[in-house]
Amino acid sequence: EASAKVIDGKSVAKQIRDEITAEVSRMKEAIGVTPGLAVILVGDRKDSATYVRNKKTACDSVGINSFEAHLPEDSSEGEVLKFISGFNDDPAVHGILVQLPLPSHMNEQKILNAVRIEKDVDGFHPLNIGRLAMRGREPLFVPCTPKGCIELLHRYGISIKGKSAVVIGRSNIVGMPAALLLQREDATVTVVHSRTKNPEEITRQADIIISAVGQPNMVRGSWIKPGAVIIDVGINPVEDAKSPRGYRLVGDVCYEEACKIASAVTPVPGGVGPMTIAMLLSNTLSSAKRTQNFK
Ligand code: NDP
Repeated sequence: EASAKVIDGKSVAKQIRDEITAEVSRMKEAIGVTPGLAVILVGDRKDSATYVRNKKTACDSVGINSFEAHLPEDSSEGEVLKFISGFNDDPAVHGILVQLPLPSHMNEQKILNAVRIEKDVDGFHPLNIGRLAMRGREPLFVPCTPKGCIELLHRYGISIKGKSAVVIGRSNIVGMPAALLLQREDATVTVVHSRTKNPEEITRQADIIISAVGQPNMVRGSWIKPGAVIIDVGINPVEDAKSPRGYRLVGDVCYEEACKIASAVTPVPGGVGPMTIAMLLSNTLSSAKRTQNFK
């Protein structure tokens, strides 16, 4: 019997967007400044174009200005860098986001390093990641997806301190920063990746699992300790003849099985996904507040 609480990322994200809308208008009225987010998209990947469109819609919905640079696939690195430098110098832009992945002929590291850390709302600049990893240092921004995972735990009153947490996946954008964040929150953290032996024995020890792998239904009920909390970041298309699109999206975690054994689970879609964009808006707002010294 399903007993887990469903962690409703969609409604938490809505609540956060409402809070941001109120803050954006308070700021506009008080000092006449509107937060602005610039997005750089290179090439014509469909999924990337969708993410960029969703980000723009989200900005509109909370009153944040959005700027977009869409460059052709065969652009040079120099052209991308020129746009970054323009946005770096533009006082109307408080956040700059380079939609990943970049075309393979570009050096991702060089491009991400060019974003001024004061505008690095994705939190991917090595200085921000480095500060995230260090005790007693504060990053200016924390990467949006892992931040959204932690925010869900906070808003559901799930304590992290002293808990045993397992992160599955170690990517720069999700797994690694998620592990750093959990550690900052005083969890004892283990990271599982593709070379880990017996991952299920490790995940079975966890009070909290954050999974960011990209493998549909990899985490089975037998991988989960009774009463654990499951945050499923995975977004994986699987064939579905009954769906009009011919596919549907599932997480890394077998949702039906998790619901029977965990105490709380995020669904896919409607869990972490909506939180990512909410955190991007939140980072853009705090960037604007910081540059204006507006409390
Ligand atoms: P990456 O492909 O960059 O990283 C996947 C990680 O999973 C790697 O560290 C890899 O290990 C590990 N891994 C792969 N196979 C296994 C396995 N069999 N067992 C254990 N670990 C494994 O993916 P991302 O981090 O970018 O994304 C992960 C998932 O999250 C995807 O489904 C993506 O769509 C989704 N996502 C969702 C977002 C949201 O807003 N909700 C945002 C970003 C991503 P190794 O390092 O050894 O290769």
